[in-house]
Amino acid sequence: MDKTLCHYHPAQPATWRCTPCQRPYGDCCVPLNADAPDAHPQCPLCNGALEFLGAANTAQPFWERIPTFFAYALQPGPLAISALLALASLFLPPSLLFWFILFSVATKYFYSVIEASSQAEPQAPSLLSAFTGDGFALFFKQLVVFVLAFAALWLAADFNSEALHWAVTLGLLLALPASIIRLALDKTLGAALSPEEIGQVIKAMGWRYLILCAFLFILWQAPGWVTYMLSSGLPRVVLMPVAAFLFGYFAVVMCAMMGYAVFQYQAALGYVVDDAEGRAAYPEADYLRRRALAEAEIHVKEGHSGQALETLKSALNRSPDDLKLNERFHQLLFGLNERQRCLHHLHHYLPLVAASNPALAATALLNARQLQADFLPDDALVCERIAAALLDRHKTREALSLLRNLHQRFPDYPQVPRAYLLAARGFAEGLGQVPPARQLLAFIRARYPHSPLLGEVEALEATLARLAAQS
Ligand SMILES: [Zn+2]
Ligand SMILES: [Zn+2]
Repeated sequence: MDKTLCHYHPAQPATWRCTPCQRPYGDCCVPLNADAPDAHPQCPLCNGALEFLGAANTAQPFWERIPTFFAYALQPGPLAISALLALASLFLPPSLLFWFILFSVATKYFYSVIEASSQAEPQAPSLLSAFTGDGFALFFKQLVVFVLAFAALWLAADFNSEALHWAVTLGLLLALPASIIRLALDKTLGAALSPEEIGQVIKAMGWRYLILCAFLFILWQAPGWVTYMLSSGLPRVVLMPVAAFLFGYFAVVMCAMMGYAVFQYQAALGYVVDDAEGRAAYPEADYLRRRALAEAEIHVKEGHSGQALETLKSALNRSPDDLKLNERFHQLLFGLNERQRCLHHLHHYLPLVAASNPALAATALLNARQLQADFLPDDALVCERIAAALLDRHKTREALSLLRNLHQRFPDYPQVPRAYLLAARGFAEGLGQVPPARQLLAFIRARYPHSPLLGEVEALEATLARLAAQS
């Protein structure tokens, strides 16, 4: 099964789908409201209820999580059940009844691990949970599956054909994990033996099921190998509990892996489970703004620019000073060549953006100049800030045009010396024109004899004098 991706952001996994619109959406396009956790997200295009895809597309593949399965089995619950098996191997009387009880408790525990992992629960079930509730019959159902498997092997052996023997062995080995998963999830013998139900698990995972089988086969052999390696040095009384403990530990690792594989392929298996981490949700105001931005982007990509404008407009009515909303609104108006609306919006947008992001304000001003060649912001500080950003971008003429006659346009502006010092630098450094730069500096000296900037004026004058002498 391949991952479904967001229709509008092909790098994002899909988490929602609108069936009528045939659009899968990622979390990128469907922000959630933390203040209304029960509100069901709606399709940005048709406002219909979205269908949740679960974590099927966001889940990390199980083969990339091998270390977490080993760590999972080191939690108190799995260690306790492994210790219980180790102690039982030492002290349990050789009575079949006791061993049946022990194995049905252990099997119930292992299967609860598969179930918990299939829900992506990071916490392993407790030891106590192995002794309570129902599910003790799982061991006997599993026993029936094993008996039938051995019967099949035994029948195959009757035919005296090496090829048939291997085919049956391999087939059973491949079918067993899927059958165990079925038994853990559905808890019925029918599901564990039904070729159709087992086939559904294999089909859902596709060829990755073989990876799962390979890992499980290695893990299944692991306790045997470790015990074999220890066998030469250790007496039997130590070896038995060690082997039993390892069996318990590796069984939990295997079950955690099988459970997670179910979680990963939940969509193909017909389950819908969310990550344990939960999805990001935003406070009401932030949520509304994110939704407006996402919806506007979707409308633009669908070619509904009018709707995109409407969406942003109503979001701006709620929060008129939101920078991102204003920026998008400006870009959209400019892109659509909505001359009048764009110029009108600029009077609101420029002071806002000049205060927080002068570089962005410089871009907006250059846009404005394309719509109206003599466009000027109606605020002195905005002019000065944008001029500085334009000078940084070597747009000297545009910068100087913002500062021209500033003292006449804004007679009450207290920062005229600072603005004219900036203009003098623009003339000298940007255009290489020394005379107008000197005129501006002389103007500052004459008009603002008490300006704290006179030191800088003097320094610049000295530099300009040196330059004039050289040339
Ligand atoms: Zn998206
Ligand atoms: Zn829809």
